Amino acid sequence: MGFLNKLFPKRPPKSAMKLGRNDRCWCGSGRKYKKCHYDSDQKHFSRLRTATCRASS
Ligand SMILES: [Zn+2]
Repeated sequence: MGFLNKLFPKRPPKSAMKLGRNDRCWCGSGRKYKKCHYDSDQKHFSRLRTATCRASS
């Protein structure tokens, strides 16, 4: 399954929305969230929010 992880990078769990920037990243790398998946997650979540807004209106 390793090749799939490269093609489709891990998606953040919903619990990642509550993570602080100085918390450990959800991916298990042991790095701080802000130094790891923070940036990509913000993009992911903002796109999610836009999508749900459009769907509900
Ligand atoms: Zn990470």
